[in-house]
Amino acid sequence: MTTATPSLPLFVLGRGSDPESERGVDCPGSLPPASDPDLVRRAAAAKATLGDRLFVLGHHYQRDEVIAFADVTGDSFKLAREAAARPDAEYIVFCGVHFMAESADILTTDAQQVVLPDLAAGCSMADMARLAQVEDAWDALVDAGLDQDTIPVTYMNSSADIKAFCGRHGGVVCTSSNARRVLEWAYARGRRVLFLPDQHLGRNTAVLQLGLDLDDCVVWDPRRTDGGLTTEQLTAATMVLWRGHCSVHGRFTAEAVADVRARIPGVQVLVHPECQHEVVTAADQVGSTEFIISAIENAPAGSAWAVGTELNLVQRLAKEHPEQQIVFLEKTVCYCATMNRIDLPHLVWALEELVAGRVPNRIVVDPQTAAEARAALQRMLDLPG
Ligand code: SF4
Repeated sequence: MTTATPSLPLFVLGRGSDPESERGVDCPGSLPPASDPDLVRRAAAAKATLGDRLFVLGHHYQRDEVIAFADVTGDSFKLAREAAARPDAEYIVFCGVHFMAESADILTTDAQQVVLPDLAAGCSMADMARLAQVEDAWDALVDAGLDQDTIPVTYMNSSADIKAFCGRHGGVVCTSSNARRVLEWAYARGRRVLFLPDQHLGRNTAVLQLGLDLDDCVVWDPRRTDGGLTTEQLTAATMVLWRGHCSVHGRFTAEAVADVRARIPGVQVLVHPECQHEVVTAADQVGSTEFIISAIENAPAGSAWAVGTELNLVQRLAKEHPEQQIVFLEKTVCYCATMNRIDLPHLVWALEELVAGRVPNRIVVDPQTAAEARAALQRMLDLPG
């Protein structure tokens, strides 16, 4: 029997440290005030001074004021690959969240230094699967004699040590774009998948793309003894979903889909697969952030969209496509609080520190963890495109 590993202590963003968390600690030094009218000029000047030594990555969910200084924008996987493709850039400033900066460090050379402008920019989903908890779940699979035919699969949105766990146990990483292909790879090697940490992406992909039944899926709850599952349930399951979710995408509701359909005749509802199953099944289209952007970019003028993904991106798409009607799916869902931690003052501070010859908030994954995580990432990269 495995006992429940205590859940994370409450961590007030940006204050103190939490070694158990995917998140980091306060930024040292003093930040310029957000009211400083000179911030845009200072960011541009620091960037110009650093020149080719610097490469700034901006995740699609970042604020406009930060995206304005990104050399490239993309989802977490695209950005990690972009960083790896710039071996000459000494400093990679990652405007995103902690697990993304870790992935960039894993995929770049030792000579490159990855900087996260605010160490409190973590990801609540990544925090929902801690290594000790995942090892407890694996022990339960071992005790039940099920580990040999179980393949651990982790979403990109997980900490480096969870990716490394998958690397050690013959598992793999997936993104929201390739989850189907990765699961097909996994089921060719085992009859059961342990899917970390987003239950919704796992369930939506298994049921809607691979044709599994909802009954084939069970949810491992790390806060309950033995995950809240009997050995019989674990044995029968082909998909063991980790009880984790995105605190933004998990909040969209099927009621909001019905509501927007009533308000906007002919609206197309477009959502991310991190949304709950009933939202995804009520929507017209489901896909990764890159899929959502491309669906809007290729849509005809006059089309109407209700988009269920992070608000910064939806607002940017609406601004860039005034010829379409683009609305946010749910009125009560907010920005991703941790993505929004990276603002212009933090970016200016990080860039000016680099100009001064100091490397602030460097993200370093230890070599052993990096090697094992890279093995899981490499299995994904080796899949046919
Ligand atoms: S949007 Fe969701 S998955 Fe992405 S960083 Fe925020 S909490 Fe994590």
